[in-house]
Amino acid sequence: VPVQAVCPYCGSLIITVTSFVPGTLSWLLCTTLFVFGCVLGCCLLPFCIRTVMDVKHSCPVCRRELYHYSRL
Ligand SMILES: [Zn+2]
Repeated sequence: VPVQAVCPYCGSLIITVTSFVPGTLSWLLCTTLFVFGCVLGCCLLPFCIRTVMDVKHSCPVCRRELYHYSRL
């Protein structure tokens, strides 16, 4: 969820911009599905599921990454 914060880099009061990036958990799921014999492409499924993705909060003003939320 986007949160209100003061950016430590540019000092602006901002609402963080969230984006989803594939994290460790995505890779683990991918590997697991691959091991269990899923057909080609199926192992890429975790990358489409947001709940297993890491969340990156960044500043809309200076674009710097403020916080990285990892699922693990
Ligand atoms: Zn900033």
